[in-house]
Amino acid sequence: MRHRIAVVGGGPGGLTFAHVLHRHGYPVTVLERDPSRDARPPGGTLDLQEKMGQVALDKAGLLPWFQALSRPEGQAMRILDTDGAVLRDWRPRPGERANPEIDRGQLRELLLGSLEVQWGREVTRVEPGGGDGTVVHFADGPPQRFDLVVGADGAWSRTRPAVSPARPHYTGVTTVETSLDDIDTAHPGLAELVGEGSLGVYGVNRSLVAQRNSGGHVKVYARFRAPLDWHAHLDLADPEAVRSSLLAMFDGWADSVLGLLRHGTAFAHRPLHVLPVSHTWTHVAGVTLLGDAAHLMPPLGAGANLAMLEGAELAEAIATSTSTSTSSGTGAAGLAELDATVRAFEETMWARAAKWAQITSAGLERLVSPDPAEAVAVFDEVQPS
Ligand SMILES: Cc1cc2nc3c(=O)[nH]c(=O)nc-3n(C[C@H](O)[C@H](O)[C@H](O)COP(=O)(O)OP(=O)(O)OC[C@H]3O[C@@H](n4cnc5c(N)ncnc54)[C@H](O)[C@@H]3O)c2cc1C
Repeated sequence: MRHRIAVVGGGPGGLTFAHVLHRHGYPVTVLERDPSRDARPPGGTLDLQEKMGQVALDKAGLLPWFQALSRPEGQAMRILDTDGAVLRDWRPRPGERANPEIDRGQLRELLLGSLEVQWGREVTRVEPGGGDGTVVHFADGPPQRFDLVVGADGAWSRTRPAVSPARPHYTGVTTVETSLDDIDTAHPGLAELVGEGSLGVYGVNRSLVAQRNSGGHVKVYARFRAPLDWHAHLDLADPEAVRSSLLAMFDGWADSVLGLLRHGTAFAHRPLHVLPVSHTWTHVAGVTLLGDAAHLMPPLGAGANLAMLEGAELAEAIATSTSTSTSSGTGAAGLAELDATVRAFEETMWARAAKWAQITSAGLERLVSPDPAEAVAVFDEVQPS
C-alpha cells in the first residue's frame, strides 16, 4: 500500500519531486494549472549547479541527458561598464561543469519524461486536517483528498496559506524582460557583445543583463530600482512605449549596449518579490511546501536549484521510508512515519534555503546599487580566478 500523494505545480521543483517518486515506482498525482505542456513560453535559461540541481537530476536518473543537452560554454560571463568598456571576461575552463546552462523548456521536457500530469487543474485552496486526509479544492471540479499535498506552486502559491500566512513582498527592484531571436544572423554585433554566456552591464541603481539561450535566442533583463507603480503612465502592452521608456531610463549608456533594448521584440514586466529570508512554519500534518512556494528569493541562480534538490530529496526520503517501513501500509503508523519524514525534510530545507535567501538578498542589494563597483565585486567573489 502506498500513500496518496499529490504535488501542486509542474515547475522544476514539482516535476523533480514527481519524477523521483515515479522512478521509485511510487504513484503521485501532479496537478498543474497550465492547460497543456505548451500553453506558455517556458522562459529563459537556468544554470544548474553541480551540488544542487545536478544532484537532483542524478537522483532522477537524468544526469546523462542533462550533460548532453546543457551548455557548459554558457558559464562564460562578461561585465562591461556603462561606456561599453570590458571590465571582466570569464570563460569556463575546458571540462568545467560547475554551472552549465539549460533552456527551461529542455529541462521541463526531461523532467516530464513519461510522467502523467493533470493539466488545467488549478488549485484554489488546500485544507489540511479533515479526518480522511488533506482536501484539495479546484477552480473546476470536485475536491480530492490526499495523505500528503506538496505545494510546489511557486511565488503566489495557493497551498502556502494552509501552513503559513506569509506573502511575498516587493524588493524595490523590478525587471523588464525582452528577447532577441536568431542573434548570430540578425544582430552579429550584439552576438559578439553577449558572447557564449551572459553579459552584465551595471550602472547606478540599474543593470542590463543578457543571457544566451540555445538556438541563437537571447533574453535581456533591464533591472532597476523603482516603486511598484513606476509604469502608472505607461502602457505596458505597447512595446514601443516600453522601449522608449527604457531607452530614456538607460540614456547615456553605450550605444552598443542599448542595441539590446532597441532590437528586443516584446517586453514583459516582472517585479521582484521575495518571502522573508527565514520563512518557516509550524509543521502541519498532510501538507508541505518546496521551491519558490516555500522560499521565494531574488533570481540569482539558486531558486530552481533549491526547488529541484528539495523535490528530489523529499521524494527519495518518502520512497525509502516506505520501502524500509516496519509498519507498512497507510494506517495511523504509516501516516506517522510519512509525517516524520516530511518534518525532517522541512528542517533541512529551512536551514539551507535561509542561507541562500540571505546570500541572494544581499547579492541583489549589491547588484542594483548606487555604486556599480559593488556589482563587479560580487562577481569577483564568486567567479573562479
Ligand atoms: C529571470 C530569472 C532567471 C532565473 N535564473 C535562475 C537560474 O539560473 N538558476 C536557478 O536556480 N534559478 C533561477 N531562477 C529562479 C527560478 O526560476 C525559480 O526559483 C524556480 O522556477 C522555482 O521553481 P518552482 O518549481 O518552485 O516554482 P515555479 O517554477 O514557479 O513553478 C510553479 C508551477 O506551479 C504552477 N501553479 C501555480 N499556481 C498553481 C495553482 N494554483 N494550481 C496548480 N498549479 C499552479 C505554475 O503554473 C508552475 O508550473 C530565475 C528566475 C528568474 C525570474
